[in-house]
Amino acid sequence: MISATDTTKLTNADHPTTSLDVEQIRREFPILGQTINGKPLVYLDNAASSQKPQVVIDTLTRYYREDHANIHRAVHTLGVRATEAYEGARVQVQRFIGAERAEEIIFVRGATEGINLIAQTYGRSLLHQGDEIVITTMEHHSNIVPWQILCEQTGAVLRVAPINDDGELMLDEYEKLLGPRTKLVSITHVSNALGTIVPLRQVVAAAHDRGIGVVVDGAQATPHMKVDVRELDCEFYTFSSHKMFGPTGVGAVYGKFDLLEAMPPYQGGGEMIKSVTFEKTTYNDVPHKFEAGTPNIAGVIGFAVAANYLVEIGFDRIAAYEHELLSHATEMLSKVSEVRLIGTAAEKAAVLSFVVNGVHAHDVGTILDSEGIAVRTGHHCAQPVMDRFAVPATVRASLAFYNTPAEIDAMVVALRNVIKVFSG
Ligand code: PLP
Repeated sequence: MISATDTTKLTNADHPTTSLDVEQIRREFPILGQTINGKPLVYLDNAASSQKPQVVIDTLTRYYREDHANIHRAVHTLGVRATEAYEGARVQVQRFIGAERAEEIIFVRGATEGINLIAQTYGRSLLHQGDEIVITTMEHHSNIVPWQILCEQTGAVLRVAPINDDGELMLDEYEKLLGPRTKLVSITHVSNALGTIVPLRQVVAAAHDRGIGVVVDGAQATPHMKVDVRELDCEFYTFSSHKMFGPTGVGAVYGKFDLLEAMPPYQGGGEMIKSVTFEKTTYNDVPHKFEAGTPNIAGVIGFAVAANYLVEIGFDRIAAYEHELLSHATEMLSKVSEVRLIGTAAEKAAVLSFVVNGVHAHDVGTILDSEGIAVRTGHHCAQPVMDRFAVPATVRASLAFYNTPAEIDAMVVALRNVIKVFSG
């Protein structure tokens, strides 16, 4: 097995064209330097959650050591400092996704809470009996179940746009579903189970032509590509910090300001009010109207630092490097005849979902772990995708810019050993 240091050296030698200094980047992620089961950690589970650079870890520690107090109402110095850092983070996240105003960013626990918020505020006031919500076959459960709950509450109906054998959205079928009863489209930007990048501009344009608003689940996009919500022109966009190298338990919803203004609050409590009497409560301004209770202050600040970290590396370089990694991994896996890739879209993020003939995905995952290699196995919270491809589960290697071709090679070697064991 190649050591972690050798692994990164190999990268730069094999890929002299990349301007990404992967060796340096790996040093910024302390967790990556460890061994697991006596082998150098090969972390290929980034779509589930990515690792944190030192700058994010330091931000959290420093915040708790030096700056912590509750935000918004305090006149004392620490309260002011924490409030400034929290609201400053809102501006950073606004810039990160190209929103027009900081007020268009609502901090939530993550993409899951983001979609639930949109469903229970915007959706609940918009939808009536017989109205339709369009999603796709490739959605994460987070972009299915909140709409099913809303359908139960309102009598609305869920319609599902199909995907083809490569895991791409069938745009013509999608457009056919957009009818007079369609009130909302909710769609992923990048599929977590397949890696497919959805052509959002076309999706949004088709919906807008018919006066339909679009919610985008961006959980798997923001770690990999520059997102500009004004360019996409979607009504809502939601994403999670922990998938983009920031802390867990925090994320954001972007919403067009006028829509946010018109929406009812999500949860009731402190912070989201201007005044409360038993007779009447007046709600706070956007975005505070949607942020009841004490938020994850440290998490929000760390989230913004992670976003800035990505911007500093540069999405052009991240995308170019990950594209090389994906091509290498696809080629290596295609040489293993027992492996079938699930998800072969022309436009793909660095996700490789596959099944191995004769070996259950969980067995593959367990044996790879014994070699220090972390992949995810199962349905990836996307059971309809598994049904679409008639498999119970897949093995998923999901890559980040700190992964290397040598790590992919290590996975393929381990995979060949698994196959040998199971065929012998
Ligand atoms: N949407 C997609 C496409 C995802 O991959 C995930 C997580 O895997 C989510 C939503 C939910 O994100 P979170 O668990 O951070 O709320």
